Formats: sequence, structure tokens, C-alpha cells
Amino acid sequence: MTNVYSTQPPGRVLVSAEAIAKSFPSADGGSLRVLEGVNLTIREGEIVALLGRSGSGKSTLLRVLAGLIPPSAGEVRYRGVPVDETDPAVAMVFQSFALMPWLTVLENVELGLRAAGVPRAERTQRAIDAIDAIGLDGFETAYPRELSGGMAQRVGFARAFVQRPDLLLMDEPFSALDVLTGENLRSELMKVWGDRELSGQSICIVTHSIEEAVQLADRVLVLGGTPGAIQAEIPIHIPRPRDKRSPTFESAVDHLYALLTGKTPGAGHASEAPPGPLTHPLPEATSGGLAGLIEIVVAHGGQTDLPDLADELSFDIDDLLPLVDAASMLGLLTVDGAQSFITDAGYAWHWAGIHESKISFAELAVARAPLVRTIVKALEHSDTGSLRADFFRDLLRRGFNEQDAERQLTLAIDWGRYGELFDFDADSDELMLSEVATGLSALLDPDAGNPPR
Ligand code: ADP
Ligand code: MG
Repeated sequence: MTNVYSTQPPGRVLVSAEAIAKSFPSADGGSLRVLEGVNLTIREGEIVALLGRSGSGKSTLLRVLAGLIPPSAGEVRYRGVPVDETDPAVAMVFQSFALMPWLTVLENVELGLRAAGVPRAERTQRAIDAIDAIGLDGFETAYPRELSGGMAQRVGFARAFVQRPDLLLMDEPFSALDVLTGENLRSELMKVWGDRELSGQSICIVTHSIEEAVQLADRVLVLGGTPGAIQAEIPIHIPRPRDKRSPTFESAVDHLYALLTGKTPGAGHASEAPPGPLTHPLPEATSGGLAGLIEIVVAHGGQTDLPDLADELSFDIDDLLPLVDAASMLGLLTVDGAQSFITDAGYAWHWAGIHESKISFAELAVARAPLVRTIVKALEHSDTGSLRADFFRDLLRRGFNEQDAERQLTLAIDWGRYGELFDFDADSDELMLSEVATGLSALLDPDAGNPPR
């Protein structure tokens, strides 16, 4: 066993990123600020996890670190030299690895070496070694179509290992695999990384999975905010191999969980700017999903430890986050660290009959979900009580890209329909106010931003 399994002092700085910013042109001709003021270092022999929610800019940051895209501001240095002046010894593993379907496993793994001009005999030997190391022995002559997803991703790893990079960059390499396959491959990766003489090698892995970050990393960098920045840096000093059931493991998960949920839109007490649809997007949760979550928490006596709950449901804990965010935005749940509790409003909603539950959902959504509120308000101000959906799309594109804007609108329509606030006619592409909603106009005035209790 090499020194990577022990907690030894970190090596020299391999990569440093200073004051990185990245913007993309947005649909309305402005610019979308994705990253700002990102500082980080990766040392020799270290595994760093970049943890953040979907859309927080993780992949963008990884690409900037790899030198694949230039930052809008700031600089990435590789052993002290700016990346645009050097060709860093990095290898990438993507979520789904694009294997060449007409090449065998061996040929796919050799590809990079061939491009680098490594002589034939050497590259074949190195490729065979890499294939063995990641458990693909015997599959050298197989074609990608003959492989399962897990096997194909092993080829992706072999293809990265064979280059013997100083830094291995991985963008959610396990997230396209089923849970068990992902878990196996993760522990094998750690074995390969520990067993071989790779102690100088560093890994930077992007993940949205808290457990994966705690399983793998020496240090977890939490990416969040708009625009994205490093919001916390958590060292993980748990000896390897790590046991998911150990109290230290669980407490690290709880700590990171609290950090990620702490930024929950609507959960904070004193936010500076009033919440608007662009600063407080609707979490990815449908009204049906919300009802399911509340039902489960009620069944747990109204209080639950969310990581435990995720475990029990064999959910990735991160899949619960958007639901929890939505429930907390609406005031159905409160979150304190990893614990969550049903509120009075949550109980009222849960126990109400169908009709009452729709009314109480409508009230909460108008009061607490900025986009729903904006839509109701705008519809009330239109003569006909209806507006083209494009009106809202244009508004949303000021803060989101095309796809996310559409997603937000779809979520708002789901919530609005469930609460019978407004409806959407796909043929005319129009949103229109329902009868019920007019009765809610009182809520739209001065103190309506406060949660009804
Ligand atoms: P993550 O990997 O954390 O899910 P990404 O880095 O992929 O996040 O994306 C962050 C944000 O930047 C998203 O809103 C995404 O739509 C936007 N984005 C990423 N790449 C581009 C691009 N090439 N052009 C425009 N917008 C982009
Ligand atoms: Mg990504």
C-alpha cells in the first residue's frame, strides 16, 4: 500500500487558479456570469472534489482548469506556468465517454498514446496494463457496443490512466451509471489510484453527490452562488478505505449537506434584495413530488434526518435536494442542518381535503414562489387575464439560458395549475388566470412576501 492511503502532508502546488471569472453570451445579447472570483489550488497527490448543484458552474470550472476554455478573467497556472503557455499533463474523464465504436477496447485506450507518438510496442503494453488495472482484462478485443455502461466507463478510465497524467480531471464520471455499478467503479478507482506508484498524481473530480465527495476527496470545495464561487472548503481527514456507515463519514455528509441547503432560496431570514424570479429560481420539483415528500416526512413523525431518509429510499441524497428546497421555499418544511421538520403550513396542507389543499398551496405559492407570484401579478394586470408565454420567456432569459428559462416556466405552470391559479394553453401558447386566483389578489399586497403561518 502506498502513501496515498495515509494522511501525509500535501505535496507541492500543481495547479493554482486565481480570481477566475467566466461569462457566456446570453440569449438576449447580454452575458451570463457563471463564475466569479474563484480561487483554488490543487497539490501533488491530492484528491479534490468540486461539489455543487446542477448549473453551479462545475463543468465550466473544470474546463477552465484543463485549459480547454479560457477564463474571462483570472489565470490558471500549472506548476507556476500559465496554462495558455504550457500543455499541462492532464487527462479528462467525462460523464459518458465518447468511445470510437469502430475501434476495439485496446485500440480505444491506445488512441491518445498514438496521437502523442508513443512507439507501437510501448503503447500496446501500456494500454494492456491500464486495461488490467481497471478490471477489463480479457476485453481487449471487444467493441464498445458489446460493453455495458459500467464497462464502457472503465475504458474511459483506462484511456485516462494510460497517459499517466499528473492531474486527472473527472466530470461526474459515475453519474450516468446505476448506483451499484457506480459504487463498484468508485472503489476500484480508489484501489488503482492507491496501489500503483501514482502517489504524485492528483485528481480533481466534479460531483453533485455529497457522498461521492466524502468517499473520495481529501478536500471538498463547495461551489455555489450566482455567479458561482467557492463557498466553503472542507478537509476530509477520514482514513481510507472509508466506511460510509462510520460516524465520522456521516458527520462529514451532514456538514456538507447543511452547507448546500443553507443557501436554500427562501430559507434564509434576511436576504438583501427582495426575492425575484431571477434571483430565486423555482427548485426542480413538481407539485406531485412535493406531496410525496411531505407524505413521507409526516410518516416519519414530522421530522427526519434527510441523509438517513435518502438512504432508506435508496435515493442519492442529492436527488432529494430540489424537493427539499421547494418544500422549504413554500414553507412546508423547515431545514436545520441535515434535519427537516414539517411546519404548521405543511401539516395543514397534508391533512386538508383536495379542495382546501389546492387553495393552501395556491396561497403559499403566490406568497413565496417568486415566479408564480410574478405570473399571477402580470396576468391580473392584463385586460383579458391572459398573456403570451413569450412574455415570461423573455423575462426569464434575462437570467437564464434558453433551456433553464423554459424549465422554470414549465415548473411555474405545474405549480400554478396544481394551485388552480392559472392555466396554460399550449395551442395559443397563452397563460390565463383562473377564477380562484382573483380571490388571492389581497395576498399580492404589501406584506405578501411573508409566509402565512
Ligand atoms: P454544472 O456543471 O455545475 O451543472 P455548468 O458549468 O455546466 O454547470 O453550467 C453553468 C451555467 O453556465 C449554466 O447555466 C449553463 O447553462 C451555462 N453554460 C455552460 N456552458 C455554456 C456555454 N458554452 N454557453 C453558454 N452557457 C453555458
Ligand atoms: Mg456539469
